[in-house]
Amino acid sequence: MLSVGVLQQGSRYDLHIGASPDAPDESDLDEVSGAYGYVHSYETASRYDGPGLRVVLFLSGCLLRCQYCHNPDTWHLKDGTYVSAQQVIDRLAAFAPALQLVGGGLTISGGEAMVQRDFTRRIFSGAKKQGLHTAIETSGFLGDRADDRFLSEIDLVLLDIKSSDPETYRMVTGRELAPTLRFAERLAALNKAVWVRFTLVPGLTDEPANVEGIAKLVAPMKNVEWVEIQPFHQLGAFKWKAMQLDYALEHTEAPTPELTRRVLDQFRSAGCRVR
Ligand code: SF4
Repeated sequence: MLSVGVLQQGSRYDLHIGASPDAPDESDLDEVSGAYGYVHSYETASRYDGPGLRVVLFLSGCLLRCQYCHNPDTWHLKDGTYVSAQQVIDRLAAFAPALQLVGGGLTISGGEAMVQRDFTRRIFSGAKKQGLHTAIETSGFLGDRADDRFLSEIDLVLLDIKSSDPETYRMVTGRELAPTLRFAERLAALNKAVWVRFTLVPGLTDEPANVEGIAKLVAPMKNVEWVEIQPFHQLGAFKWKAMQLDYALEHTEAPTPELTRRVLDQFRSAGCRVR
């Protein structure tokens, strides 16, 4: 029997490892009801993860291995703290009145929240009962798990499209692109609000054809409210070192203003609202 831990307030840039050594592997997790799950940490005042001011909950477990990941300590369930969904909902209640006042809400990120789909759904359901706007940040790789019941608890999907080219996607993430495209198309068919996020990494995702492919894919989707360019940075590099992981981007720099402008222009020219 796993013992329930303490929900950690902090930052996505805090290193959390080894909190639940008996946790299953993230690819084998068999959620019974979603009453319990594994959490990295939560932040209380983000302005970057959805509209207004957000509480952002970072869940453990991800099946991708992005070369530029700044949270490799969210990849494995065993690194997260085992908590109950009710603990999270009760903590959220302390912030709910203030979040409502400023038009904010709850964003669940990761790792990949859909590794623990039922846990995520329970927390969103609790947030909705508190009158909060709900958003999920996801790669879409597990989008097939997002059934109608799950999506009905979510107001906004922050969809990370890491590449439009299957080869590049595989190189960047170690996984296939197709599930993300399938999920993007399904969200468009449902007219579910989406902000597409694209991480701009010089020498890795910045090929004009790669950017063009994403722009052409999302421009016709009426449900995509924004495309957000996220410049690569090194704030998570220390985690790769601390976890003794091979970090291929050690010498990669942040995109120059010129490169960022070119990419913004590419999205704009295709007809996207971009920032
Ligand atoms: S999907 Fe997110 S958490 Fe998972 S490896 Fe990629 S950047 Fe990291």
